[in-house]
Amino acid sequence: MAKRIAIFPGSFDPFTKGHEDIVLRGATMFDEVIIAIGHNSQKKRYFPIELMIELIGKTFENKPNVRVETYDGLTATFAQEKGANYILRGLRNTTDFEYENAIAQGNRFLNDELETVFLITSPSLAYISSTIIREIHKYDKDVSAFLPYELPSKGE
Ligand code: ADP
Repeated sequence: MAKRIAIFPGSFDPFTKGHEDIVLRGATMFDEVIIAIGHNSQKKRYFPIELMIELIGKTFENKPNVRVETYDGLTATFAQEKGANYILRGLRNTTDFEYENAIAQGNRFLNDELETVFLITSPSLAYISSTIIREIHKYDKDVSAFLPYELPSKGE
């Protein structure tokens, strides 16, 4: 049987414990999970993409069926290139649902073999958002409680 490959696309600016939870649960459902950092040259990131690749790589170094890659362009095209028939996404609330519903319909229009699979967030992690972490970090407060790895200190 063909391998069941899922991509987990996102900005991951930064990758959080909420994201980690979705990946770990996804890794029990699929043969392979590819964390796909969408990289849009027009959109400026807060955490450099190279740093995120390194930290995510370290986080899953003991999970042989999880890896991290970057892509630009359409998620549906990237999925096709990787032989992935599934897109994995997390749902926290109804706001996520509205947004995710539109994206999933768009991706299905582009590739009707592509199924989007949603995992409902674990309740203890539902409040974690990359936007809030960036805001806290900007003011030099500790964000380590929200992240599954340690950030290098500023200036390192
Ligand atoms: P995007 O910019 O594409 O929304 P994000 O990096 O913000 O990318 O999120 C990637 C995916 O992870 C999305 O499906 C989002 O709903 C999900 N996600 C974000 N935070 C959490 C969380 N705390 N728990 C579960 N899923 C989450």
